[in-house]
Amino acid sequence: MSTPTVLVLPSPTQGHVIPMMSLSHKLVEHGCNIIFVNSDFNHERVVTSMENINNNDSSSLYSSPIKLVSIPDGLGPEHDRVNFGELCDSMLSTMPSELEKLIEDMHMKEGIKVTCIVADVYMGWALKVANKLGIKGAFFCPTSASVFVLQYNAPNLVADGILDSDGFPISESEKPLWLSSSIPGMDIESCWWLRLFDPLVEKRMFKYAIHCISHSNLTEWCLCNSTQELEPEAFTLAPKLLTPIGPLLPTTTSSLGQFWKQDMSCMTWLDQQPHCSVVYVAFGSHTLFDQRQFIELALGLELTNRPFLWVVRRDPNCTNYVSLPSEFEGCKGKIIGWAPQKMVLSHPAIACFVSHCGWNSTLEAFCNGVPLMCWPYFGDQFSNKSYVCDGLKVGMGFDSDENGLVSRGEIKAKVDQLISDEDTRSRSQKLMEKLKHSMEEGSTSSKNLSKFVTWLKE
Ligand code: UDP
Repeated sequence: MSTPTVLVLPSPTQGHVIPMMSLSHKLVEHGCNIIFVNSDFNHERVVTSMENINNNDSSSLYSSPIKLVSIPDGLGPEHDRVNFGELCDSMLSTMPSELEKLIEDMHMKEGIKVTCIVADVYMGWALKVANKLGIKGAFFCPTSASVFVLQYNAPNLVADGILDSDGFPISESEKPLWLSSSIPGMDIESCWWLRLFDPLVEKRMFKYAIHCISHSNLTEWCLCNSTQELEPEAFTLAPKLLTPIGPLLPTTTSSLGQFWKQDMSCMTWLDQQPHCSVVYVAFGSHTLFDQRQFIELALGLELTNRPFLWVVRRDPNCTNYVSLPSEFEGCKGKIIGWAPQKMVLSHPAIACFVSHCGWNSTLEAFCNGVPLMCWPYFGDQFSNKSYVCDGLKVGMGFDSDENGLVSRGEIKAKVDQLISDEDTRSRSQKLMEKLKHSMEEGSTSSKNLSKFVTWLKE
């Protein structure tokens, strides 16, 4: 059997690059070669974050069986990539031809023949490129299975008159949306494309996502970063396509794929904290705070009188700079720019995770038995929060005050409540045990991945 060369194409965000890098490492273990394609913009960030590392990890950049390459996303370096609508339009008009050129060049100049493209669902157009070049194609779904099936069924929701063709609900009805009798009804407002702040962006993203997913007729595989144990019902709704292979967690042996350098000093700091005492606070790679909310958060953390580890991103491309209030002393806390999150969450000093509920962060909390204080910001984070709080009951949410702010008092009260809630902690621990098995050899996820590799090698 020849060694398959898999081209892995994440959509250009941190929360998609990390799990697709984890998938790449697993495929390498199964004997595949990997070509990992970032946008030029993100490739630069990945390479820079590795070069800044003063240990052996940076050498893996050049010796890894994962070959890092890049193509343009069509926007200049100065462009604001937080505007997803603009980014997606630009990617669609630029990337398909760039991808085709990359594959042909690798073949002609380096003799590399790509066996299969594994494309992020939100880069679904890549399957058309694969089809044109006579290469196999597969999808990777970086969200929960429930979020995927909702998106997958969106054309039916339009046909049934529940959504208009731009993805907006037609009636003002408060009724929940039922995808199947076995899945709890969901609030239509929690559809991820209705949680992007700007109706114009929401409409563009809905159309982009529908366009991408429409390419699912070109593949029989959609590898999903979830497990049968977590979402049994959701997997029954697209049984021929959606295949659980998760949870994929970042590898601790390599930080390849991180956009920012991880600040490892927090690990020695954590070693000095009492068992189950630290509030870990991190909101992923996109969340922006307005100044007033940032102040409440800073003072709320202080008010808990507990040690806290708080990730405050300082992204040079981000115009949204917030500053700490003058009365903030922060003596019990540590603030860092980017954490080795998987290692942090598995540290025994961690008591709870104040999180935006990105799907990766949520899975990482589940796999480490850490209860969540949910503070969703946009997109699918709202449905992930419902899943955590109402479904699995391994976390709680904050309530906003009359000004729409989560006050410092609310932060203290809820963090105290969560940390002292033994039932929630025990459910989190049980969930961790359950998920441990889904990562072991012989589990459904691991068998599914082996089947996929067999298909690659056929
Ligand atoms: N992450 C990290 N360090 C941090 C914050 C986040 O390594 O300080 C990682 C985290 O472990 C997760 C990813 O970044 O794998 C964020 O993905 P998620 O889906 O949670 O959120 P997004 O960034 O997409 O909003």
